Amino acid sequence: MAEDLAITTDDLTKEYGDTTAVSDLDLAIPEGHVYGFLGPNGAGKTTTIRMLTALTEPTSGIGHVAGQPITNRQAIIPHIGYLPESPPIYDELTAREQLEYHGGLRDMDPAEIEDRIEELLNRFDLTSDADDRISTYSKGMKQKTGLIQALMHEPDVVILDEPTSGLDPRAARTVRDTVTELAAGDRTVFLSTHILPVVEKVATEVGILYDGELVAEGSPEELKDRMEAGDESTLEDIFLEVTTDDAYEADESPNDTGVGQSV
Ligand code: ATP
Repeated sequence: MAEDLAITTDDLTKEYGDTTAVSDLDLAIPEGHVYGFLGPNGAGKTTTIRMLTALTEPTSGIGHVAGQPITNRQAIIPHIGYLPESPPIYDELTAREQLEYHGGLRDMDPAEIEDRIEELLNRFDLTSDADDRISTYSKGMKQKTGLIQALMHEPDVVILDEPTSGLDPRAARTVRDTVTELAAGDRTVFLSTHILPVVEKVATEVGILYDGELVAEGSPEELKDRMEAGDESTLEDIFLEVTTDDAYEADESPNDTGVGQSV
């Protein structure tokens, strides 16, 4: 039986004036996968995420997240948990108040809200700070609050933009373990980060965006196999190889899947 797809896009394109931020992007990410979404600064990652979360309308092309069209924000919101670069949290609230408010917005019942908050505060080691105002939090504590908020309604698809930003090594490990657990539970994680060792550890599939185009895609093992050094190569080697103008011009006729044209 074919795997169910959690995220699909077909020729998804976003133009800002003369700038094509994302160009004809085709994604087909099955449920239960961790998709590592990589690319240099300005490659179009945030723009892609903003389209997948219905925050930005595509110029052309279509996409679905958890079976819902990405042009219908109301329909996709219940299915996604999104951690943007700056978590949407209110400084004047405590973390507990913020999370209770968010649970209410997601139509969770009050008992479930309290249970999930306790569980996740505990997981991210934030319990003893939960009743302090967010304005007194460190960057890492704010990031943890944002992460808990993205996860608390148990969404089908979790979209994380630099989730380990500002986190200490223990908290970063907790994030990695959580991502792996989510995928084991058939949730899908779309993970955008510049921290390649994190992707190497958790991603089942990797897509590398360069200048708005998907220039390589495959499992970490598949991508390594296409490199001269094979298993010895790292995701960093692959990233550096495919994100240069030279590599890009070497093959201007990508195959249908956009898989590793230049590696
Ligand atoms: P980074 O790793 O630095 O966060 P990114 O891969 O997320 O980069 P985007 O923020 O998606 O890249 O930007 C892709 C391109 O689109 C860039 O050329 C950027 O200047 C342009 N862009 C993004 N948002 C806008 C906007 N609101 N108006 C005009 N141009 C934009």
